[in-house]
Amino acid sequence: MEQTLSIIKPDAVKKGVIGKIIDRFESNGLRIAAMKKVQLSETQAGDFYGVHRERPFFKDLVEFMTSGPVVIMVLEGEGAVLKNRDLMGATNPKEAAAGTIRADFAESIDANAVHGSDSLENAGIEIKFFFDKSEVL
Ligand code: GDP
Repeated sequence: MEQTLSIIKPDAVKKGVIGKIIDRFESNGLRIAAMKKVQLSETQAGDFYGVHRERPFFKDLVEFMTSGPVVIMVLEGEGAVLKNRDLMGATNPKEAAAGTIRADFAESIDANAVHGSDSLENAGIEIKFFFDKSEVL
């Protein structure tokens, strides 16, 4: 059993598609082990995306991630990390395969509806960033 971190980003929360996105996870064998809706601070968003700090899009990314509430989840299931990445689709929604979350609900590379951990190692780090052990059930 693997666990991975998923974030429904501000664009998708504003659009009112939280339920539709969660349905993709639950219909594909991913269980919601933890979930909360939060408004990220600039510091939190910046630290979470710390690996991108030197990239030209970093400022836009932090601005976007703090532009409204997000829903943060721990997804659990067999091969959860890769399964979630497959369900999400490519980073740029214009390149995302038909039927993926980003193809169906996202507009642009910055407003791309969801985040998902890209490796098991990062999943562990990202889950710890947002959740206490006692909150993952
Ligand atoms: P992900 O793992 O598919 O989310 O992609 P990355 O880890 O590479 O990038 C993190 C986030 O930064 C993406 O989800 C996008 O929201 C944003 N991002 C990545 N590349 C670009 C870019 O070239 N331009 C802009 N504006 N945002 C980007």
